[in-house]
Amino acid sequence: MTLFEKIAARQIPADIVYEDEHTIAFRDLHPVAPIHVLVTPRLPLPGLSSAGTEHIEVLGHCLNAARRVAAQLGLEPGGYRVVINNGDDAGQTVPHLHLHLLGGRQMSWPPG
Ligand code: 5GP
Repeated sequence: MTLFEKIAARQIPADIVYEDEHTIAFRDLHPVAPIHVLVTPRLPLPGLSSAGTEHIEVLGHCLNAARRVAAQLGLEPGGYRVVINNGDDAGQTVPHLHLHLLGGRQMSWPPG
C-alpha cells in the first residue's frame, strides 16, 4: 500500500479537504504555500509516466478535483498553481501520482 493509499484508508492521519469516488485531496504535511493540497487518485499509479490512455478519465478526475478544491478554498479569482513532479529529476518523493495545488501567495516563474 502506498503512503497516499494509507491516508485514503485513514490508516495515517491527514487533513482531508475533498474526496470523491476517484480522488482524495489533503493538505501537504510540509506546505510550501499558505494553501498546499495534494490531489491524488485512489488508483495508485506510481506517477504520470505510468498513466496510459486507459487512465485519461482518472487524470481528468484529478484535474477536476484540483479545480474544485481551489474554488472551495478561496483561490478564485486570485489564482493558483497545479504541479506534478514526475520522477527523480523533478523531485518526486512519493511514488503515487499526485497534483500539488499551491496558492495563497504570489509565485514566480520558472520554478527552481
Ligand atoms: P513529491 O515530492 O513526491 O512531488 O510530493 C510529495 C509530497 O508529499 C511532499 O510535498 C511532502 O511534503 C508530502 N508528504 C510526505 N509525506 C506526507 C504525509 O505523511 N502526509 C502528508 N499530508 N503529506 C506528506
